Amino acid sequence: MQGKRVVVLTGAGISAESGIRTFRDNDGLWENNRIEDVATPRAWRADPERVWRFYQARRRQLSEVEPNPAHRALAKLSEGLDHMVLITQNVDDLHERGGSEDVIHMHGRLETLRCESSGQNERRMEDSDLGEDFLECNCCAEPQRVRPDIVWFGEMPMHMNEIYAAVEACEVFIVVGSSGHVYPAADLVHIAQVNGARTILVNAEPPLNVEFFDEVHLGMAGELLPDLVQSWLGSPD
Ligand code: NAD
Repeated sequence: MQGKRVVVLTGAGISAESGIRTFRDNDGLWENNRIEDVATPRAWRADPERVWRFYQARRRQLSEVEPNPAHRALAKLSEGLDHMVLITQNVDDLHERGGSEDVIHMHGRLETLRCESSGQNERRMEDSDLGEDFLECNCCAEPQRVRPDIVWFGEMPMHMNEIYAAVEACEVFIVVGSSGHVYPAADLVHIAQVNGARTILVNAEPPLNVEFFDEVHLGMAGELLPDLVQSWLGSPD
């Protein structure tokens, strides 16, 4: 893989071994909540207290979890390659804490909050930022309510121009821990493949879009990735 342009896309499965639950492994529930009740703009309008409490709990959980060998293996892969772009659908910070830099968070991040009025985001992870009460921004003259800085279902993912450019130009496209249900992320492997990239999957089970992968490794990412990264760094193609 040395000298190749490599793009890696991760999903909730890479953080599962750190103790953060995925969606699909729980029948479409996220921590016992229906996705429509906590992860859509409509839910925020209908019951903002519930949505806020849900994301505050996810934000507090960050201090209780640690990156696992899969996060660290991807940081090592990036260090060993000349051109690697890491895109994640995850909203946790485990890639960064596992040593990765410049991670593209296409579905937003838990550590930042977004002003509902200006759209500006700001890192808010002090103890006083993690309670049950709504918070206000620091950007407006008259402070406004902030919302989770998350891309909810029905909203446009972030950084898509940069993501499409990287995926169209890559020579190797690797997906780790993603069910292939959530679009447009699920379509990126197809775009990579039609543009000539070799496509590789590391996932606990075959995802919906499994037919677009040239190479499939089924199993736990934390167990498989360290050795795979070792072999990729050693191989010329
Ligand atoms: P998903 O929950 O739909 O699917 C997870 C996939 O990971 C499944 O196919 C499962 O078989 C696989 N998996 C589970 N444990 C694994 C392991 N140890 N090793 C390898 N694979 C494993 O996740 P998705 O495709 O990322 O889509 C769901 C959406 O949910 C994303 O948009 C994401 O933003 C959000 N989400 C994020 C987090 C997080 O930030 N950690 C957690 C839950 C959901």
